[in-house]
Amino acid sequence: MECCATPVVWGFAGSEQVGCCALTGLRIETGGTRRQTASQHLFFARHQNPDLGLSAPGFPGAQKRELGQPAVLEPRKKAIVNPACIAKRLRTALLIIAVLAVSAACGRANAQSSPSLYIYSTLDALLAGAYDGDLTIRELSGKGDLGIGTFNRLDGEMVAVDGVFYHAKADGSVVVADPQDRTPLAYVTRFHPTQNIKAESALPLAKLERWLDSRLANPNLFYAIRIEGEFRDVSVRAIAPQMKPYKPLAEVFKTQSVHDYPTTRGTLIGIRSPAFSKGISVQGYHWHYLTADRQHGGHVLALTLVAGSAMVEAIQRVNLELPDNEAFAHADQTKDRSEETRRVEGK
Ligand SMILES: [Zn+2]
Repeated sequence: MECCATPVVWGFAGSEQVGCCALTGLRIETGGTRRQTASQHLFFARHQNPDLGLSAPGFPGAQKRELGQPAVLEPRKKAIVNPACIAKRLRTALLIIAVLAVSAACGRANAQSSPSLYIYSTLDALLAGAYDGDLTIRELSGKGDLGIGTFNRLDGEMVAVDGVFYHAKADGSVVVADPQDRTPLAYVTRFHPTQNIKAESALPLAKLERWLDSRLANPNLFYAIRIEGEFRDVSVRAIAPQMKPYKPLAEVFKTQSVHDYPTTRGTLIGIRSPAFSKGISVQGYHWHYLTADRQHGGHVLALTLVAGSAMVEAIQRVNLELPDNEAFAHADQTKDRSEETRRVEGK
């Protein structure tokens, strides 16, 4: 029961029913009625406990004071604290603490269950010629079921769809990757799309990226994208395995094999990385393609989406794992490789 805007706890002192403030624990002097206003109640609370402030003017016991005059307090009246009120206040406080603790735990659980992107190594390390990693495809498959990457010695392109890791080779063929193969660079996620966007007209690659951009709520997140559909003028590349000593990617990519498919059905897998991730991944979109029969594919240089829909997953969490090997340790990652990235990625 409340008699004013301030919470009041009612109990008994002997046979007399009394109220006390749930906030201050002070007995409320009701003067024979419980119908008090909030300001009156506050006045009484203050009046009985000078630590809370001076008496307010206009109420019983108030003392008029000119500006600059020192405050004159009435003799302090003994506050009447009802034990039942204290117990009730304690229970209320404990309940509030419990609710806050549960809310905080729920918030953390939501953040931890949101999609994450697993990244192995960095784009700049690959550009510098660190073509050998330690992570096997079997290990990588435990990190996600959709993504892109490459293989040791820069041997072709990786496309992961539905938990199957495909190996697109320089001769244009595609095979299921050997679980013992290793990767120097990969981006994978457990794909749980939250958006499904249908393309209403044919979209060349640049237009497709702008079309997607206009539908992404937050450009500063990572996104994983899967587009199923009909495509035309698909141009993909893959690079043949390199021999040591490795040359930088800006040199090696000149030897890439390019394969063109005028019309095809297939799956386009993309990772969109925000601008601040420069050096770790390709800024903007990085696409790999697989034909519907999983016989051809590679890193996308050009294409047009004729018809299809895009499934999109926004990613707030990133798990970056760096190789602890000689190739990564000696890769020069001190310089700005933006221009190299543009050339190598066909941007
Ligand atoms: Zn690629």
